[in-house]
Amino acid sequence: MRHLPVFLDIAGKRAIVVGGGVAAARRAETLLRAGAAVVAFADAYSAEFETLRERHAFERVERWPADASEFAGGAVCVIATDDAARDARMRAAAKSAGVLVNVANNPGLCDFVLPSIVDRDPLVVAISTGGASPLLGRMLRARLEATIPAAFGGLADFVSRMRARVNERISGPVARRRFWERALEGPAAEFVLAGDGERAEAAIARELAAASDDGAIERRGEVYLVGAGPGDPDLLTFRALRLMQKADVVLYDNLVDAKIVDLARREAERIYVGKRRGDHVLPQEEIGDLLVRLAREGKRVLRLKGGDPFVFGRGGEEIEKLAENHIPFQVCPGITAAIGCSAYAGIPLTHRDHAQSVVFVTAHGRNGPLDIDWSALARPGQTVAVYMGLSHIEQLMSEFERRGADPDTPAAIVDNGTRSNQRVVTGTVRTLADAARAANLRGPTIVIVGSVVTLRGKLDWYGDAVAARQAST
Ligand code: SAH
Repeated sequence: MRHLPVFLDIAGKRAIVVGGGVAAARRAETLLRAGAAVVAFADAYSAEFETLRERHAFERVERWPADASEFAGGAVCVIATDDAARDARMRAAAKSAGVLVNVANNPGLCDFVLPSIVDRDPLVVAISTGGASPLLGRMLRARLEATIPAAFGGLADFVSRMRARVNERISGPVARRRFWERALEGPAAEFVLAGDGERAEAAIARELAAASDDGAIERRGEVYLVGAGPGDPDLLTFRALRLMQKADVVLYDNLVDAKIVDLARREAERIYVGKRRGDHVLPQEEIGDLLVRLAREGKRVLRLKGGDPFVFGRGGEEIEKLAENHIPFQVCPGITAAIGCSAYAGIPLTHRDHAQSVVFVTAHGRNGPLDIDWSALARPGQTVAVYMGLSHIEQLMSEFERRGADPDTPAAIVDNGTRSNQRVVTGTVRTLADAARAANLRGPTIVIVGSVVTLRGKLDWYGDAVAARQAST
C-alpha cells in the first residue's frame, strides 16, 4: 500500500490553501466541508472562489504568504499555484513550520494525497490509486456514485439515532448485529432512503417488539412497484436498479424489455403475468392478490411495469390491495413511453413556437376503445400523445379530423420507442393511418399529433445513431 488511509479530524482547525485557481478552489471547498477554518493565499482569485466567500470559516488574503510564519499552526496545507517553482518554495516554507503538505499534481512533494470521495455524509468513501491514475479513481468514483443511493448517509444517521433503543432491547453484540443486518435490508431502511424518518422509526419499533432475544426478526414482506421505462435499459433510474437487486420475486409483463428483467437479482424468481390486448395471463385483480400473497410469505416483491407505473399502468389499482392489507410498498417512477418516444424520435413535446401544452391520452378506456374527450384535444398550440392507439389508428385520425383538427396537422407514430428496433413513421392527421399500416408496425406505439412533429427533420439523433451502429457492424 502506497499510503495509509486515515480520516483526519480537522473541524475548527486551521487549513491553508495556497493558489487562486480552480484546483485550489476545489480543495478549499473540500476542506470547508470537513469543517476546517480555511485561509487562502493568492495574488488573484478565479471566479470559483466567489461562492466560498460567504462561508464564515473562510478567509482570503490577496497576496502570497510572506514566509514560514504564515503557515504556523496549520493542520494541513494544500498548494496549487500553477507554477512549479513557486509550489516548491511554498512547500519548503510550510514544511519548516511543521505543517503536512499536499501539492497538486506533484505526488513527490506530498505528505498526503486527497482521495476522490463519494460523500454521503456522515458516510464517506475515499478512493486513492496511490497517484498511479487519478482518472481511474474518478471513474471508480462515478460508478460508486451511481450505485450508492443519495440518501445512504441518512441510513448511518438513523442507525446511530436508534442504537440506544436497540441496545436496550437486545443484549449481546452478535444478536445486535443480526438484528441490524436484517433491519437494514427491510422496510425501515427503505423508509429512510425514501426520506420518511417517522415511518422508519415506527418500523424499527415494530421489529424490535417482534425480535427474539437472539436478534432474529420475522421478515416482513414488501412490494416495490417500479417503472422500467419504455425499453432502453439505460433509462432505468438508480432507485429502480437498486430495488431490482433486492427482490426475491419479480412480476413482469411483456411491455418490460427482456434485457431489463435480466437486471433483477439473479436468484430472484420470475413470474410472467402477461398482458397484451386479449392476452391477459393473469387478470388484474389476481395480480393484486398475488402481490399480497407473496408479500405475506415475507418476500420482497418487485412489480415491474413498462414506462411509469402511474401512467396508464393501472399501478394504482394493483397497490390499492396492498394498502388495504397494510403491506408496506413503495412506488418508483419510470420514464413514460411518451417522454421516451419523444426524446428518441427527436420530437420535443413542447416548443415555444409550436406547443404550450401537452396531453397524454389513452385510446383504450375502461369501456373499450376511444373513450376520449375529443373537444379537449384537437387544439392549436397543443401536442397530443396517444397511448395504445395502433389498433384503432384509422378511427383515431378520423375523429381528430371530425372534431376540428386541421387534416394537415403533422403527426407521427413511434413504434418500439427507445429500443434498437425503434421505427418512426411521420405524416399528417389525414395520411398517418395509411402510412402506419403500410409500414406494418407491430407496436407498442405512441402516436404524436401536433406541429412539433416537423422538428424531427432537424432533431432526429437516434435514428442516425442506430444507422451508424448498423453500418459499422
Ligand atoms: N405505463 C406505461 C404505459 C402502459 S400502456 C408508460 O408509462 O409508458 C401501454 C402502452 O404504452 C402501449 O400500448 C404503447 O402505447 C405505450 N408504450 C409502451 N412502451 C412503448 C414503447 N417502447 N414505444 C412506444 N409505445 C410504448
